[in-house]
Amino acid sequence: MGNIAIAIHGGAGTLMSGTIPAEIEKAYHDALSESLLSGYHVLSHGGTAIDAVETAVRLMEDCPLFNAGKGSVFNSDGINEMDAAIMNGMNLKAGAVAEVHIIRNPISAAKAVMNNSPHILLASAGAEKFAGEQGLDIVDTSYFYDEQRHKQWLLTKDKDSSWAGDEIALPSDIKGKKFGTVGAVALDSAGNLAAATSTGGINNKKFGRIGDSPIIGAGTYANNKTCAVSCTGEGEYFIRNVSAYDVSALIEYKGYSLVQATTEVIKKVAQLGGEGGLIAVDNHGTIVTPFNTSSMFRGWMDATGQKHIAIFR
Ligand code: ASP
Repeated sequence: MGNIAIAIHGGAGTLMSGTIPAEIEKAYHDALSESLLSGYHVLSHGGTAIDAVETAVRLMEDCPLFNAGKGSVFNSDGINEMDAAIMNGMNLKAGAVAEVHIIRNPISAAKAVMNNSPHILLASAGAEKFAGEQGLDIVDTSYFYDEQRHKQWLLTKDKDSSWAGDEIALPSDIKGKKFGTVGAVALDSAGNLAAATSTGGINNKKFGRIGDSPIIGAGTYANNKTCAVSCTGEGEYFIRNVSAYDVSALIEYKGYSLVQATTEVIKKVAQLGGEGGLIAVDNHGTIVTPFNTSSMFRGWMDATGQKHIAIFR
Protein backbone atom coordinates (compact mmCIF):
# COMPACT_ATOMS: atom_id res chain seq x y z
CA MET A 1 0.00 0.00 0.00
CA GLY A 2 1.35 3.46 -0.88
CA ASN A 3 1.81 6.32 1.49
CA ILE A 4 -1.89 6.98 2.16
CA ALA A 5 -3.14 9.59 4.65
CA ILE A 6 -6.42 11.25 5.59
CA ALA A 7 -7.51 13.96 8.02
CA ILE A 8 -11.01 15.25 8.78
CA HIS A 9 -12.44 18.11 10.82
CA GLY A 10 -15.83 18.88 12.29
CA GLY A 11 -15.18 22.55 13.00
CA ALA A 12 -13.12 24.74 15.33
CA GLY A 13 -14.43 26.46 18.44
CA THR A 14 -13.77 27.82 21.89
CA LEU A 15 -14.93 24.79 23.87
CA MET A 16 -12.90 23.99 26.97
CA SER A 17 -12.09 20.48 28.07
CA GLY A 18 -14.52 19.31 30.75
CA THR A 19 -17.37 21.59 29.64
CA ILE A 20 -19.15 19.09 27.36
CA PRO A 21 -21.26 16.31 28.90
CA ALA A 22 -19.48 12.96 28.47
CA GLU A 23 -22.27 11.45 26.36
CA ILE A 24 -22.20 14.36 23.89
CA GLU A 25 -18.40 14.19 23.69
CA LYS A 26 -18.71 10.46 22.95
CA ALA A 27 -21.30 11.08 20.23
CA TYR A 28 -18.91 13.50 18.48
CA HIS A 29 -16.04 11.07 18.95
CA ASP A 30 -18.04 8.24 17.37
CA ALA A 31 -19.26 10.36 14.46
CA LEU A 32 -15.73 11.58 13.67
CA SER A 33 -14.45 8.03 13.92
CA GLU A 34 -17.07 6.71 11.50
CA SER A 35 -16.31 9.43 8.95
CA LEU A 36 -12.55 8.93 9.25
CA LEU A 37 -12.77 5.16 8.85
CA SER A 38 -15.06 5.47 5.83
CA GLY A 39 -12.55 7.72 4.05
CA TYR A 40 -9.66 5.52 5.09
CA HIS A 41 -11.47 2.45 3.78
CA VAL A 42 -11.61 4.06 0.31
CA LEU A 43 -7.87 4.80 0.39
CA SER A 44 -6.78 1.45 1.80
CA HIS A 45 -8.71 -0.34 -0.96
CA GLY A 46 -6.89 1.56 -3.69
CA GLY A 47 -9.57 4.28 -4.11
CA THR A 48 -8.85 7.88 -5.05
CA ALA A 49 -8.27 10.82 -2.71
CA ILE A 50 -11.29 12.57 -4.29
CA ASP A 51 -13.60 9.66 -3.49
CA ALA A 52 -12.16 9.39 0.04
CA VAL A 53 -12.81 13.04 0.92
CA GLU A 54 -16.30 12.97 -0.61
CA THR A 55 -17.17 9.82 1.34
CA ALA A 56 -15.91 11.19 4.66
CA VAL A 57 -17.67 14.54 4.21
CA ARG A 58 -20.99 12.98 3.12
CA LEU A 59 -21.18 11.03 6.38
CA MET A 60 -20.70 14.21 8.41
CA GLU A 61 -23.27 16.05 6.23
CA ASP A 62 -25.79 13.33 7.08
CA CYS A 63 -25.00 13.59 10.82
CA PRO A 64 -26.97 16.36 12.62
CA LEU A 65 -24.11 16.90 15.09
CA PHE A 66 -22.20 18.91 12.49
CA ASN A 67 -22.96 22.23 10.85
CA ALA A 68 -23.17 20.86 7.30
CA GLY A 69 -26.01 19.21 5.40
CA LYS A 70 -28.55 17.97 7.98
CA GLY A 71 -28.02 20.03 11.15
CA SER A 72 -26.79 23.19 9.40
CA VAL A 73 -27.14 26.49 11.26
CA PHE A 74 -29.91 28.97 10.40
CA ASN A 75 -29.32 32.29 8.64
CA SER A 76 -30.96 35.60 9.60
CA ASP A 77 -34.06 34.64 7.59
CA GLY A 78 -34.35 31.45 9.66
CA ILE A 79 -33.39 29.11 6.82
CA ASN A 80 -30.50 26.68 6.21
CA GLU A 81 -28.21 27.96 3.45
CA MET A 82 -25.22 25.72 2.63
CA ASP A 83 -21.87 25.96 0.84
CA ALA A 84 -19.41 23.24 -0.24
CA ALA A 85 -16.30 22.74 -2.39
CA ILE A 86 -14.02 19.95 -3.55
CA MET A 87 -10.65 20.07 -5.33
CA ASN A 88 -8.50 17.45 -7.03
CA GLY A 89 -4.76 18.08 -6.62
CA MET A 90 -3.93 15.80 -9.56
CA ASN A 91 -5.27 18.18 -12.23
CA LEU A 92 -6.31 21.28 -10.23
CA LYS A 93 -9.94 20.62 -11.14
CA ALA A 94 -12.42 22.01 -8.64
CA GLY A 95 -16.14 22.33 -8.09
CA ALA A 96 -18.31 24.19 -5.60
CA VAL A 97 -21.87 25.12 -4.73
CA ALA A 98 -23.02 28.06 -2.61
CA GLU A 99 -26.26 29.21 -1.00
CA VAL A 100 -28.07 25.91 -1.59
CA HIS A 101 -31.18 24.84 0.34
CA ILE A 102 -32.50 21.52 -0.98
CA ILE A 103 -29.46 19.44 -1.99
CA ARG A 104 -29.09 16.65 0.57
CA ASN A 105 -25.32 16.34 0.09
CA PRO A 106 -23.81 19.63 -1.12
CA ILE A 107 -20.34 18.01 -1.39
CA SER A 108 -21.60 15.61 -4.05
CA ALA A 109 -23.12 18.54 -5.94
CA ALA A 110 -19.72 20.26 -5.79
CA LYS A 111 -18.13 17.10 -7.19
CA ALA A 112 -20.72 17.00 -10.00
CA VAL A 113 -19.95 20.64 -10.87
CA MET A 114 -16.25 19.68 -11.05
CA ASN A 115 -16.76 16.57 -13.16
CA ASN A 116 -19.76 17.39 -15.31
CA SER A 117 -19.78 21.12 -15.98
CA PRO A 118 -17.31 23.59 -17.48
CA HIS A 119 -17.65 25.76 -14.35
CA ILE A 120 -16.24 25.93 -10.83
CA LEU A 121 -18.96 27.53 -8.67
CA LEU A 122 -22.73 27.33 -9.08
CA ALA A 123 -24.98 29.18 -6.63
CA SER A 124 -28.51 29.03 -5.30
CA ALA A 125 -31.38 27.96 -7.59
CA GLY A 126 -29.03 27.28 -10.51
CA ALA A 127 -26.90 24.94 -8.42
CA GLU A 128 -30.04 23.18 -7.19
CA LYS A 129 -31.39 22.77 -10.73
CA PHE A 130 -28.03 21.34 -11.84
CA ALA A 131 -27.89 18.92 -8.88
CA GLY A 132 -31.39 17.67 -9.76
CA GLU A 133 -30.37 17.17 -13.40
CA GLN A 134 -27.36 15.19 -12.17
CA GLY A 135 -29.65 12.80 -10.33
CA LEU A 136 -28.52 13.83 -6.84
CA ASP A 137 -30.88 13.60 -3.84
CA ILE A 138 -33.13 16.67 -3.63
CA VAL A 139 -34.99 17.04 -0.32
CA ASP A 140 -37.53 19.35 1.28
CA THR A 141 -35.96 22.23 3.25
CA SER A 142 -37.41 20.68 6.42
CA TYR A 143 -34.92 17.79 6.08
CA PHE A 144 -32.12 20.09 7.34
CA TYR A 145 -34.00 21.24 10.46
CA ASP A 146 -32.39 20.47 13.80
CA GLU A 147 -34.20 21.53 16.98
CA GLN A 148 -31.07 22.40 18.95
CA ARG A 149 -29.73 24.60 16.16
CA HIS A 150 -33.10 26.29 15.77
CA LYS A 151 -33.15 27.08 19.50
CA GLN A 152 -29.68 28.55 19.22
CA TRP A 153 -30.80 30.71 16.31
CA LEU A 154 -33.89 31.91 18.21
CA LEU A 155 -31.61 33.00 21.06
CA THR A 156 -29.44 35.08 18.75
CA LYS A 157 -31.64 36.22 15.88
CA ASP A 158 -32.34 39.66 17.30
CA LYS A 159 -28.69 40.37 18.00
CA ASP A 160 -26.94 42.26 15.25
CA SER A 161 -24.10 39.79 15.01
CA SER A 162 -23.40 36.68 13.03
CA TRP A 163 -21.03 35.45 15.69
CA ALA A 164 -23.39 35.67 18.63
CA GLY A 165 -24.48 32.06 18.70
CA ASP A 166 -23.27 28.58 19.36
CA GLU A 167 -22.47 26.92 16.08
CA ILE A 168 -22.68 23.25 16.92
CA ALA A 169 -25.58 21.24 18.22
CA LEU A 170 -24.80 21.52 21.90
CA PRO A 171 -27.23 22.52 24.62
CA SER A 172 -27.31 26.31 24.62
CA ASP A 173 -26.14 26.56 28.23
CA ILE A 174 -22.67 25.38 27.18
CA LYS A 175 -20.83 28.62 26.65
CA GLY A 176 -18.31 29.33 23.96
CA LYS A 177 -18.20 30.02 20.28
CA LYS A 178 -18.37 26.85 18.25
CA PHE A 179 -18.29 26.44 14.51
CA GLY A 180 -18.95 22.98 13.09
CA THR A 181 -18.14 23.05 9.41
CA VAL A 182 -16.79 19.72 8.13
CA GLY A 183 -13.86 18.94 5.89
CA ALA A 184 -11.47 16.24 4.72
CA VAL A 185 -8.06 16.08 3.05
CA ALA A 186 -6.42 12.95 1.68
CA LEU A 187 -3.40 11.47 -0.09
CA ASP A 188 -4.08 8.30 -2.08
CA SER A 189 -1.77 5.42 -2.97
CA ALA A 190 -1.18 6.89 -6.44
CA GLY A 191 0.21 10.06 -4.84
CA ASN A 192 -2.82 12.25 -5.57
CA LEU A 193 -4.13 14.83 -3.09
CA ALA A 194 -7.72 16.11 -2.61
CA ALA A 195 -9.60 18.47 -0.30
CA ALA A 196 -13.31 18.90 0.51
CA THR A 197 -15.24 21.29 2.78
CA SER A 198 -18.97 21.59 3.51
CA THR A 199 -20.84 23.99 5.78
CA GLY A 200 -24.06 25.65 6.83
CA GLY A 201 -21.90 28.74 7.40
CA ILE A 202 -22.24 30.93 10.48
CA ASN A 203 -25.27 31.02 12.78
CA ASN A 204 -27.53 34.01 12.02
CA LYS A 205 -25.40 35.00 9.01
CA LYS A 206 -26.96 37.60 6.72
CA PHE A 207 -29.16 36.05 3.97
CA GLY A 208 -27.05 35.48 0.86
CA ARG A 209 -23.75 35.47 2.76
CA ILE A 210 -21.20 33.07 1.29
CA GLY A 211 -18.21 32.01 3.40
CA ASP A 212 -14.73 30.72 2.64
CA SER A 213 -15.64 27.03 2.29
CA PRO A 214 -16.82 27.13 -1.38
CA ILE A 215 -14.17 29.68 -2.41
CA ILE A 216 -11.30 27.77 -4.01
CA GLY A 217 -8.06 28.99 -2.45
CA ALA A 218 -9.76 30.49 0.63
CA GLY A 219 -11.34 27.55 2.53
CA THR A 220 -10.43 24.68 0.20
CA TYR A 221 -7.39 23.91 -1.98
CA ALA A 222 -5.39 20.92 -3.27
CA ASN A 223 -2.32 20.65 -5.50
CA ASN A 224 -0.22 17.49 -5.93
CA LYS A 225 2.92 19.67 -6.02
CA THR A 226 2.32 20.75 -2.43
CA CYS A 227 -0.64 19.84 -0.22
CA ALA A 228 -4.41 19.64 0.35
CA VAL A 229 -6.11 22.03 2.80
CA SER A 230 -9.60 22.43 4.34
CA CYS A 231 -10.26 25.39 6.67
CA THR A 232 -12.81 26.14 9.38
CA GLY A 233 -13.56 29.25 11.39
CA GLU A 234 -14.68 32.80 10.66
CA GLY A 235 -14.73 32.55 6.89
CA GLU A 236 -14.35 36.25 6.18
CA TYR A 237 -10.78 36.14 7.57
CA PHE A 238 -9.87 33.07 5.53
CA ILE A 239 -11.18 34.76 2.37
CA ARG A 240 -9.18 37.94 3.07
CA ASN A 241 -6.00 35.91 3.57
CA VAL A 242 -6.65 33.42 0.74
CA SER A 243 -5.59 30.98 3.45
CA ALA A 244 -5.79 27.53 1.83
CA TYR A 245 -3.85 28.64 -1.25
CA ASP A 246 -1.42 30.56 0.95
CA VAL A 247 -0.35 27.28 2.61
CA SER A 248 0.37 25.80 -0.82
CA ALA A 249 2.16 28.93 -2.05
CA LEU A 250 4.46 29.07 0.99
CA ILE A 251 5.50 25.47 0.28
CA GLU A 252 5.84 25.95 -3.47
CA TYR A 253 7.55 29.33 -3.60
CA LYS A 254 9.33 29.58 -0.26
CA GLY A 255 10.21 25.95 0.37
CA TYR A 256 8.37 25.92 3.72
CA SER A 257 7.51 22.60 5.36
CA LEU A 258 3.79 21.86 5.88
CA VAL A 259 4.18 22.65 9.59
CA GLN A 260 5.87 26.00 8.89
CA ALA A 261 3.37 26.99 6.19
CA THR A 262 0.23 26.17 8.18
CA THR A 263 1.59 27.78 11.36
CA GLU A 264 2.23 30.98 9.40
CA VAL A 265 -1.23 30.96 7.80
CA ILE A 266 -3.09 30.47 11.09
CA LYS A 267 -0.94 33.26 12.59
CA LYS A 268 -2.03 35.57 9.75
CA VAL A 269 -5.71 34.76 10.41
CA ALA A 270 -5.19 35.63 14.09
CA GLN A 271 -3.37 38.87 13.19
CA LEU A 272 -6.53 40.09 11.41
CA GLY A 273 -8.57 39.09 14.46
CA GLY A 274 -9.94 35.81 13.09
CA GLU A 275 -10.50 32.52 14.86
CA GLY A 276 -10.29 29.07 13.36
CA GLY A 277 -8.10 26.28 12.13
CA LEU A 278 -7.38 23.95 9.25
CA ILE A 279 -6.39 20.42 8.37
CA ALA A 280 -3.74 19.71 5.76
CA VAL A 281 -1.81 16.80 4.28
CA ASP A 282 1.22 17.13 2.02
CA ASN A 283 2.44 14.93 -0.81
CA HIS A 284 4.70 13.00 1.60
CA GLY A 285 1.73 12.05 3.78
CA THR A 286 2.52 14.52 6.59
CA ILE A 287 -0.69 15.54 8.41
CA VAL A 288 -1.17 18.73 10.46
CA THR A 289 -4.25 20.15 12.22
CA PRO A 290 -3.35 23.64 13.57
CA PHE A 291 -5.94 26.03 15.10
CA ASN A 292 -5.94 29.19 17.20
CA THR A 293 -9.09 28.35 19.17
CA SER A 294 -9.26 26.08 22.21
CA SER A 295 -10.91 23.23 20.34
CA MET A 296 -11.24 21.71 16.89
CA PHE A 297 -13.09 18.46 16.22
CA ARG A 298 -10.60 16.42 14.19
CA GLY A 299 -9.26 13.00 13.29
CA TRP A 300 -6.46 11.58 11.20
CA MET A 301 -4.95 8.29 10.00
CA ASP A 302 -1.88 7.47 7.95
CA ALA A 303 -0.44 4.33 6.35
CA THR A 304 0.22 2.84 9.81
CA GLY A 305 -3.57 2.49 10.16
CA GLN A 306 -3.54 4.06 13.62
CA LYS A 307 -6.67 6.16 14.27
CA HIS A 308 -6.46 9.52 16.08
CA ILE A 309 -9.50 11.51 17.22
CA ALA A 310 -9.17 14.76 19.18
CA ILE A 311 -11.35 17.69 20.23
CA PHE A 312 -9.30 19.91 22.54
CA ARG A 313 -5.84 21.40 22.29
N1 ASP B 1 -15.76 28.77 7.65
C1 ASP B 1 -17.19 28.62 7.70
C2 ASP B 1 -17.83 29.84 7.14
O1 ASP B 1 -17.36 30.93 7.42
C3 ASP B 1 -17.71 28.40 9.08
C4 ASP B 1 -17.05 27.30 9.85
O2 ASP B 1 -15.93 26.92 9.56
O3 ASP B 1 -17.69 26.76 10.76
O4 ASP B 1 -18.83 29.73 6.47
